Amino acid sequence: MLLKSTLLRSGPNSKRKAPRQQRKAGVIDCDLSMGKPFDIELERLTGQPPYSEATRCAGAGQRGTFFLETFGCQMNDHDSEKVAGLLHARGYQQVETPEAASLILYNTCSIREKAAQKVFSRLGEYREKQGEGKVIGVLGCVAQQEGEDIFKRAPWVSLVCGSASYSKLPGMLAQLEAGNQRVTGLDTDTDATFETEVTRRDNPWRAYLTIIEGCDKACSYCVVPFTRGPERSRASDSILREVRQLAELGYSEVQLLGQTVNSYADPTARRMRFSELLLAVAEVRGIRRVRFTTSHPSDFTLDIVEAIEREPKICDHVHLPVQSGSTRVLRAMQRTYSREEYLEKIALMRGASRPIGITTDIIVGFPGETEAEFEETLSLLEEVQYDSMFSFKYSPRPNTPSLSMSDSISEEEKSRRLAVLQDKQREIQAAKNARLVGEQFEVLVSGKSRRENQWSGYTTSHRMINFASQERELLGTYVQVRVTGAGPNSLAGEHAV
Ligand code: SAM
Ligand code: SF4
Repeated sequence: MLLKSTLLRSGPNSKRKAPRQQRKAGVIDCDLSMGKPFDIELERLTGQPPYSEATRCAGAGQRGTFFLETFGCQMNDHDSEKVAGLLHARGYQQVETPEAASLILYNTCSIREKAAQKVFSRLGEYREKQGEGKVIGVLGCVAQQEGEDIFKRAPWVSLVCGSASYSKLPGMLAQLEAGNQRVTGLDTDTDATFETEVTRRDNPWRAYLTIIEGCDKACSYCVVPFTRGPERSRASDSILREVRQLAELGYSEVQLLGQTVNSYADPTARRMRFSELLLAVAEVRGIRRVRFTTSHPSDFTLDIVEAIEREPKICDHVHLPVQSGSTRVLRAMQRTYSREEYLEKIALMRGASRPIGITTDIIVGFPGETEAEFEETLSLLEEVQYDSMFSFKYSPRPNTPSLSMSDSISEEEKSRRLAVLQDKQREIQAAKNARLVGEQFEVLVSGKSRRENQWSGYTTSHRMINFASQERELLGTYVQVRVTGAGPNSLAGEHAV
């Protein structure tokens, strides 16, 4: 049923016109150290309009137009790329505003309460749109969590499809086209991964690839096992086939995605380990950088570090969320490791022959977290010296085991702990970055500033660097940059020619 469209799979080599990045109103920082926005929008960098003829497949627009807004993490962003690909292949054309669309889709996040609230307030804004004959759909984690209740709270919604049921989307779209008023996809017992023939990639240089969906880890605060279903790994041969296609299209950087990416379990007879998969992806001709996120500490093993040591194309960056520095809190969070066991994983990386950048996620104010336990988190920051951190105030979520624990720490106290934590990490980052002045790094150029001759990009360890160059066109290229200055969140430099 799916159309094969090389246009939609097109990459930098095919002179594809870069689309505008999805409007990401209400984006929350999930594990998104990776997703820093470009200074200016892609089409302005490339001089191309967002949804040009070249990005459409034959017949696009015949069935109607769609507007797709994404909230949440990289996995949501990538799911949206796949949904957009599916819709294009069915003859829909993507548009930039809900006003111009016949189908309005909302890909949602429910990791924290605020994120879920935003979804309903945005749905309220769409209320009158249904009267204009528009079809409104909710995708993603909020759809999975709220299910058919969404129809009660927002009766103007016609489609509700949870993240675990995306493989059913083509059938659901067919039902909508046949005139069905309400369609749902809410199974969690699926063993299917969401693979499509067509993916409409938003970043012209870095391609995201989900290799494992769902999560079996059951952390006591987390909705993901409920919203994304059980863990399902994608077949290694299918992953490698897609990487080869991406390389042929000119993508030089791939990022393997999964909530616990390193828990990857190849369902084929090859039984590739995650580290073997990293090496196999790096071997694909044309691939220069392989990234992966998010790694779970319990499944983080020496062979992953050895793969990074052995293969320079595997980026020297590991995102390893710790959540807390206190073993008692970690136990209450059901994180399956202690502080000491986590530090052993850090030691594996610190012992590597090649320095590895380490980033993390932390939750403050988990039920019952004492001041002394919070201080253990501060001392962990001191000990590990992370390169970057995402930090969150604990947010009670439906269905989760921690919901029954008393959320005893006041909002005020959670905010105080968050601020103290962030101040400490800012100091650490400022000092670490200052030590890099004078060093030289390879940078994939992904942004151009409004200021003349100013560019930006990322090092292999995922440090953001703004630099000066007299070159006229650098976007999408790899250049050497010498660091001349440093702040807590980014580096400054000059093109080393
Ligand atoms: N799978 C990843 C892992 O194991 O660390 C994390 C995925 S989650 C989408 C991203 C981050 O959101 C988590 O690492 C955690 O710090 C934060 N998070 C998840 N549930 C939360 C909650 N109920 N309250 C506050 N932060 C939460
Ligand atoms: Fe959530 Fe824990 Fe799974 Fe991460 S490992 S997605 S925090 S349940």
